[in-house]
Amino acid sequence: MSSGAAWEPVIGLEIHVQLKTRTKMFCGCELSFGDPPNTHTCAVCLGLPGALPVVNAQAIHYALMVGMALDCELAPRSIFHRKNYFYPDLPKGYQISQYDIPICGPGRLGDVRIHRAHLEEDAAKLVHVGGSGRIQGASESVVDFNRGGTPLVEIVTEPDVASAAQAREWLTLLRTTLRQLGVSDVNMEEGSLRCDANVSIRPVGSDALGTKTELKNMNSFRFLERGVDAEIARQIALVESGGEVEQETLHYDPATGTISSLRSKEEAHDYRYFPEPDLVPIVLEERMLEAARAVLPELPAQRAERYERELGLSADSARLFAFRSELGDYFEAAAAVDGEQPQVLANWISGELVARIGDADPASSQVTPAAIAELVGLLRARAIQQGAAKQVLDVLVAEGGEPAAIVEAQGLGALGGGDELAEVVSRALASDPAAVEKLRAGNMRAIGPIVGFVMRETKGRADGGEVNRLVREQLGL
Ligand code: ADP
Ligand code: MG
Ligand code: ZN
Repeated sequence: MSSGAAWEPVIGLEIHVQLKTRTKMFCGCELSFGDPPNTHTCAVCLGLPGALPVVNAQAIHYALMVGMALDCELAPRSIFHRKNYFYPDLPKGYQISQYDIPICGPGRLGDVRIHRAHLEEDAAKLVHVGGSGRIQGASESVVDFNRGGTPLVEIVTEPDVASAAQAREWLTLLRTTLRQLGVSDVNMEEGSLRCDANVSIRPVGSDALGTKTELKNMNSFRFLERGVDAEIARQIALVESGGEVEQETLHYDPATGTISSLRSKEEAHDYRYFPEPDLVPIVLEERMLEAARAVLPELPAQRAERYERELGLSADSARLFAFRSELGDYFEAAAAVDGEQPQVLANWISGELVARIGDADPASSQVTPAAIAELVGLLRARAIQQGAAKQVLDVLVAEGGEPAAIVEAQGLGALGGGDELAEVVSRALASDPAAVEKLRAGNMRAIGPIVGFVMRETKGRADGGEVNRLVREQLGL
């Protein structure tokens, strides 16, 4: 067979989100990222015999907020199940999760359908201590139970994602949405947001689903994209050389770019799910729904739409300001001062200002929203030229202040008509006889170097249209 263009990837994501509640899912231990190991444990989260779980109401509240933000159907009555497996990070021998009736049913975020989202508890953290084992020569693993019992929402998408880049982009939308909700730190490096990707390929145009593999726990957006791309390439090469994709769980090593098998279908877990007998069902009451609804903020998808619809921003600007809400807030503050040209203002913020302050929050820069709004106003009034405006912005970034005062103090005001500009134009023409000859011959493109000379001489203060007019006037064209 031939080219890779004959195949299309099909991707579904499973995302674990650690909720930022004060205490754990089923006990009163405080959440404690970064604290000394095993300092936040009790009989419940250590799985001691006879200890009984009690559901954390704040976790349910957060799960409802997530469900509403993802447009999910909410189950009037959902139940907890025990998911049984044996591993040192799971002292009870089972994880309390949800199985056939999750709290959040089908929904949608952007262009990806949500299959479900359910509540569960996190496992403890295993730390592998290579070489230094107490048993001579052996490596050792130690367990930190602080993480054990942390509330999680697991979000499962439908297989609606069609490329690694789309997976990354959608996950960014999800993260921004969750951050806006304030229910999680959503930090991939620290593990408060973890993503598994299910990947298959199929012939372009086919509706059938191919056999999928599952890439586990990629801990950054970059690695997620790279890992999925590598797995797509692996599957295409395999199938095109006559092989078959096997259902298995895989690990992507970002350091080497290689993919290795964690377990195959034959070794797949049978979790022997059964209803958790120690917990009552979650029965939603109207006041719980109202409480969640009441604190839902404007979400990125809605915000982008508002910027496009109400302010006429381009889709790119709207998305940027919705995704980086600190930029959006800053933009709105500036637009409140001068909202005449929202797109021009947006371009100055997302282009020139961001180029100067990078990832920093503009609100903590020296440039006030009023100052950048005023700068755009000066440009519109032709009181300054583009080049001079950039110089003013340099000063604003370095030491703050007011644009008009800076223009005044540094003599950056636009040079319109008048003798000063005419004099510079005549010097420019005198300095470049070749260009003048071409201009006289009717080749107006030769005006470029002349305008360049004038702009250099005037430090960007000259009005381009006026320079053009003066050139024609002086050459009698
Ligand atoms: P499993 O039973 O192996 O957990 P599920 O049906 O629960 O599989 O799906 C888990 C995830 O895998 C979901 O995100 C789903 O969208 C995705 N998925 C299912 N089938 C495929 C497939 N053929 N290709 C890619 N992703 C898939
Ligand atoms: Mg699954
Ligand atoms: Zn506890």
